[in-house]
Amino acid sequence: MSKFWSELAKDLVPYVPGEQPKLQGLIKLNTNENPYPPAPAVMAAITGFDKELLRIYPDPNSDVLKQALADYYGVAKNQVFVGNGSDEVLALAFMAFFKQTKPILFPDISYSFYPVYCKLFDIEYQQPALNDAFEIVLDDYDQDNGGIIFPNPNAPTGRVIGLEQLRKLLQQNTESVLIVDEAYIDFGGETAIALVDQFPNLLVVQTFSKSRSLAGLRVGFAIGSPELIEGLERVKNSFNSYPLDMLAVTAAVAALQDKTYFEQSRQKIIASRDWLDTAMRQLGFEVLPSAANFVFVSHPQHDASLLFAELRDRKLLVRYFSSARINQHLRISVGTRQECEALITALKDIFV
Ligand SMILES: *Cc1c(COP(=O)(O)O)cnc(C)c1O
Repeated sequence: MSKFWSELAKDLVPYVPGEQPKLQGLIKLNTNENPYPPAPAVMAAITGFDKELLRIYPDPNSDVLKQALADYYGVAKNQVFVGNGSDEVLALAFMAFFKQTKPILFPDISYSFYPVYCKLFDIEYQQPALNDAFEIVLDDYDQDNGGIIFPNPNAPTGRVIGLEQLRKLLQQNTESVLIVDEAYIDFGGETAIALVDQFPNLLVVQTFSKSRSLAGLRVGFAIGSPELIEGLERVKNSFNSYPLDMLAVTAAVAALQDKTYFEQSRQKIIASRDWLDTAMRQLGFEVLPSAANFVFVSHPQHDASLLFAELRDRKLLVRYFSSARINQHLRISVGTRQECEALITALKDIFV
């Protein structure tokens, strides 16, 4: 605490991301990064980038990237918003749509950044509980609200909701904005982008960090109705005119063009996820069905925090959350097949 801090700063409860270790030789399965490098087209675009251009400001509207995303997803350019990682897109969306008199709704077990934004922006929220199978119960969201947000697939559970169920929720909920945070959609579910033309209150948020191996580049985007996008632009242009730098735009556009590479690395991760699911069950773990690039597991005989520590001793980093309902679970990112095998070997070593 410092007397120089504002009341707001004193009161904040900042988000704590998974550890980015400075140690060499750790197998990192704790922040859902992609184990494969960015697409070759991304490497070429960065190498070929004219560095002298860095003298001037980038395009404040990132039009080239917006057009590339619009073409990729079959929407109009004025239905696309881009930001410095999807975390920034989400923060701007909370300001643009969720500062309402009624509380917003998100699941009790969900992305832990949402309550952090609520605190920062002074937004009230309620958290309908996931059911015992850790599924979102959409009927709980059929109530008066200032907005709704959840990840689909959900984090850290990996469970996914189908498009028909989302459509039903949107038919019931017409007076507030629904944000579907699709950080992991490319590893499993069906994107709700197909519904944005029908529902002007639907905002779909995605990121280049997970399925496109570009967590270090910081590029996220949202797709929705022109009126929602304009709302986001109003907030963005009241905060930072240039959230995306030239290199980020150049590399992100290249990533969208390399469809073959994207499909290959996506399929490799899905295959390793299935392999990991089976191997963990054979060790006695309970594994939730996952549509994401991670698995959420628990073991009836082994304490999760102890397993976390023993894995770390063996240079394997996974994610442990200490909050009440999930403090006996571990979230494990799907690495390369070799990394998944190293995890299973370490667990066998711990269990003997
Ligand atoms: C990783 C993640 C994000 C943030 O992604 P960035 O684009 O890297 O900021 C957003 N939402 C969920 C649910 C995530 O897991």
